[in-house]
Amino acid sequence: MPWIEFVNVVKHFDNVIAVKNVSFSIERNDFFTLLGPSGCGKTTTLRLIAGLEIPDDGKIFIANQDVTYKLPKERNVAMVFQNYALYPHMTVKENISYPLVVRKMPKAEIEKRVGYIAQSLQIHQLLDRYPQQISGGQQQRVALARAMIQTPSVFLLDEPLSNLDAKLRLEARSFLKHLYTELGTAVVYVTHDQAEAMALSTKIAVMDNGVVKQIGSPKEIYDEPANTFVASFIGNPPMNILRCEISENHCYIGEQRIDLQPSLKKDLQRGYLGIRPENLQLHPTKGDLVAEIFVVEPLGVETIVTLSVNGYQLKSLVFEDVPYKPGDKIWINFKRDKIHIFDENGQRVAR
Ligand code: ATP
Repeated sequence: MPWIEFVNVVKHFDNVIAVKNVSFSIERNDFFTLLGPSGCGKTTTLRLIAGLEIPDDGKIFIANQDVTYKLPKERNVAMVFQNYALYPHMTVKENISYPLVVRKMPKAEIEKRVGYIAQSLQIHQLLDRYPQQISGGQQQRVALARAMIQTPSVFLLDEPLSNLDAKLRLEARSFLKHLYTELGTAVVYVTHDQAEAMALSTKIAVMDNGVVKQIGSPKEIYDEPANTFVASFIGNPPMNILRCEISENHCYIGEQRIDLQPSLKKDLQRGYLGIRPENLQLHPTKGDLVAEIFVVEPLGVETIVTLSVNGYQLKSLVFEDVPYKPGDKIWINFKRDKIHIFDENGQRVAR
């Protein structure tokens, strides 16, 4: 049995369907991320697991128990939400240790756990302060520490790193992953940040408009996106998606022909060609398509080159020096074994 299971769960708010017939299963050792744009139903899904919302239809199981209509306190879940609420009359230390004090854990053990977690999240110097005496980002780390100090069936984290600045966000992300490997229990994580989802998760569910568009490991989602929505949501920059006509072993982008690998030959006449920016290579004199450099953005290790071709734009990710400048004519090469083909409804048919 999976550790957490959603079976055909539906949730409406008046006439908005926030979650449309969603099913998934999470194993005990999964770091399961709900990823998608604003309003797609991630937080509602998390709140349904927590028991803060009751589904209109479907079933929810945690640790082999049907919890569909159980109260939050009957579910043994620990949560950190976007709008984390710290107890204002308690110090940081009291806030973090509260779940253990309630459970009457021995004082020495509480001290040890608080010390470890506070050190890891770099809030050890704030332990005697009150929430109103620390910054928003520090409050968020205290909320994270308060959840992480427990041993629940599942940790539910809703954008817990969103108030942190870029550097701290990266550090907290690494810490979270390290902690997860030590915790040995499921984490369900909500984010709209695809890099965060890729870095942390064992499984990602990509959501759009209340529907799960794909569930898979970060590698599956990246290498084999099930549809153009997932392909263009994951990756930075995302996959280039071009309308194309298909004929036997090649496809046409406007007038320009691209030969396809024979394995890609499909029974469709038109659809979309998808190629990730790192698989679009530039050459000064030869290639598949001629393009014009639109803009060059060096980022340190890599450079994003935006190219104009027949009125549309493509992005190439280059890991060497880029000797080109806007206006230069250049050839683009599509790495043959990295081309994806999607049908007219955006469903992937082959790579
Ligand atoms: P965000 O990333 O912006 O937090 P989300 O993906 O978490 O978004 P949800 O908060 O789950 O999305 O919302 C899904 C849909 O349900 C949205 O259209 C939202 O406006 C609607 N919704 C959520 N909660 C309520 C509520 N309490 N009352 C009415 N509509 C709601």
